[in-house]
Amino acid sequence: MSKRISPVCTKCPSRTCMPSIKANEHPAIDKAPNFCPMKCMPEVIEKALSEYDKPEVREFARQASLQEGECYEKLPDGRRTKNPRILELIEFAQKCGYKKLGLAFCIGLADEARMLSKMLENKGFEVVSVSCKVGVAPKEGIGIRPEEKIVEPDRWESMCNPITQAEILNVEEVDLAIMLGLCIGHDTLFIKYCRVPMTVIAVKDRVTGHNPLAVLYTSNSYYRRLMAKTK
Ligand code: SF4
Repeated sequence: MSKRISPVCTKCPSRTCMPSIKANEHPAIDKAPNFCPMKCMPEVIEKALSEYDKPEVREFARQASLQEGECYEKLPDGRRTKNPRILELIEFAQKCGYKKLGLAFCIGLADEARMLSKMLENKGFEVVSVSCKVGVAPKEGIGIRPEEKIVEPDRWESMCNPITQAEILNVEEVDLAIMLGLCIGHDTLFIKYCRVPMTVIAVKDRVTGHNPLAVLYTSNSYYRRLMAKTK
């Protein structure tokens, strides 16, 4: 049996999926590279697209697209961006008719969580919030040895508890959960256990002011070592 080709959109020279053609013309999918998912996984694409036939999914996707469009403005000299992500969040939640929002935040971003919570409340939302250390469960409980803790070995260190954060927001039946600054892996668990719609307002990056892409933007200079091939 021949091995299935895996998609590699990052290496695409054609961007056939984003053609510059008139709305009534047909995209030339045959011009896409062989690793294009539209060529190597057409059945997956067809099945996924049929999900949008479900009225609630279609409406959600429509609202998201409307919001996307409203983040730009058309001026005589061209199109430009206008909405920062927090405003995008507020407007999208309003569009969806959400009343109750749930903030799952990292304790290291407690100030930011307070500010975001106040901002959202001032815009009329009810905001439930849960810190990552909720449950005050010791790290030893998940097999962390004393010398592996961030604090001194003989000090208490609560583990991050994203499963509990998710379950609390599930029980609260928030309309939308918002992740703020959870660590890698903890965010994965939160996403896995969260059963309400969720979005991310910021991801944790202790070094770059929570802007992980800064490392890419400086990968020709200060972070060249991260681009270098590992031997
Ligand atoms: S979907 Fe196909 S055409 Fe679009 S970027 Fe990926 S490989 Fe290229």
